[in-house]
Amino acid sequence: MSEKPAANRHVRAAIIGAGMAGILATIKLREQGIECVVFEKADRVGGTWRDNTYPGLACDVPAHWYTYSFARNPDWNNLLAEGHELLDYFEGVARDRGVLPLIRFGDEVVRLEYRNGKWDLTTAAGHRDSFDIVISASGVLHHPNIPHFEGIESFDGPIFHSARWDHDVALDGRKVGVIGTGSTAGQLTVALVPRVERFDLFQRTPQWVLPRANIAYTEEQKASFRDPAVLDQLVQQYRTTTFEGYATAVIDVDSPQLAAIEQLCRDNLATVRDPVLRQQLTPDYRAACKRLVISDTFYGAIQQPNANLVTSPIERIEPGGIRTADGVLHDLDVIVLATGFHVDRFIRPTKVIGRGGVDLDDVWAEGPHAYLSVTVPDFPNFFLLGGPNSPIGNFSLIEITEQQLGYVTQLIAGLLDGEYREVSATPEATSRFESERQAAAANTVWVTGCKSWYLDRNGIPASWTFSHNRFIEEMAAPKMQDFETR
Ligand code: NAP
Repeated sequence: MSEKPAANRHVRAAIIGAGMAGILATIKLREQGIECVVFEKADRVGGTWRDNTYPGLACDVPAHWYTYSFARNPDWNNLLAEGHELLDYFEGVARDRGVLPLIRFGDEVVRLEYRNGKWDLTTAAGHRDSFDIVISASGVLHHPNIPHFEGIESFDGPIFHSARWDHDVALDGRKVGVIGTGSTAGQLTVALVPRVERFDLFQRTPQWVLPRANIAYTEEQKASFRDPAVLDQLVQQYRTTTFEGYATAVIDVDSPQLAAIEQLCRDNLATVRDPVLRQQLTPDYRAACKRLVISDTFYGAIQQPNANLVTSPIERIEPGGIRTADGVLHDLDVIVLATGFHVDRFIRPTKVIGRGGVDLDDVWAEGPHAYLSVTVPDFPNFFLLGGPNSPIGNFSLIEITEQQLGYVTQLIAGLLDGEYREVSATPEATSRFESERQAAAANTVWVTGCKSWYLDRNGIPASWTFSHNRFIEEMAAPKMQDFETR
């Protein structure tokens, strides 16, 4: 019989990624007395807010809510924060909470292997170490999707993805083409139209656009938010509106909440004056099927005389610009690919080998899945934040990640106090959860006839398909009968 592990033993955790989730995990695991080493392949913290620096970048979730619950910020200038303000916020939290010295920058983890009760870790630089726990905090919208367009390499000017912005490229007074109409392209349109000579937006699919005014806060309001009770009340308002409204709408296509969102989108679309343009911008699927674009300025920008919505499909890229199926060559100086991300990677391409040599790539061959999106059978003490099937949408992912981490820290508590040395979900619980999740998908808006990054390659929503309340209930405490412990 194996020996019972010692209580309050020294436990080491590897945290992969120093974005929003990695910073959070480091702060919270250290509060549990765990030694943390953070591996970050880039040279700076901030994840998506470091990678994305495109003009117009902002977070379309209210800023006061899009913060850690233990580090609220009363000083946001606007309802919606700009990208650089968020990067400053995350860097500030990482610095103030002592996370920065624990980060190995420029050290990419290429392999994790569970052997003899430990995770052996190897980085691209050849560094090796061994850990009791691994936290995967590697983000979702991280690997740019660069579609193959015939002739893409023949283009005479600069061409780059929105998440790899080339700030050396001049844009003012030039002819700029943006491919895509998602949240990124929407923000780019508003920022670039006033600056460029001509702006061409290449639309494959129109998007529903929900208006939201980006109000500026007065100094008086900011002063009032310094009272934690006032700030908390503000955050609670955003939470209630979103979870009772949007989060209910997406899982119930017959709900009055979805009808209300659709009406707001239709009213917004009705502000487009030219009936032909309005028609071209009208989606043929239900609002919120794709992630809503949040903007009260996009339609204004696309109606400017120098803006041009291109709806004929892209045929190829030529040295002078983009040739569309109607035979027109759209001459361009710069092309931006606002074409989204590969969202099914999670911690990969890192090779992750679990107990008994099980390869995560094989386990996820049919698509990534995890019990309650945080743990995978045969991958003991390996926890995912923002993992497969996490709630995603137009709300604060920080709050979601905090709830997932609250759950994970309860599982880790059992390791610390010597109850067990290994914990991972059972295969039965994982497949039961997955079948229930897929069954619940049938009534969601995501399967009502659009293509989006919310769907996996089989057309099944890759997100949380249950109510938000169920997420809160599940995350409140692990049901230990669903776990295998040793
Ligand atoms: P996205 O929503 O995936 O949109 C990608 C766009 O590129 C779509 O319009 C897509 O057209 C188009 N596209 C892809 N491949 C194409 C091809 N081969 N030819 C023509 N068009 C092509 O990507 P995103 O706008 O970068 O946004 C991704 C996510 O990032 C958002 O959903 C959101 O979660 C997050 N985000 C958030 C904010 C924020 O303010 N919080 C801002 C930006 C991004 P189809 O629709 O036809 O596929």
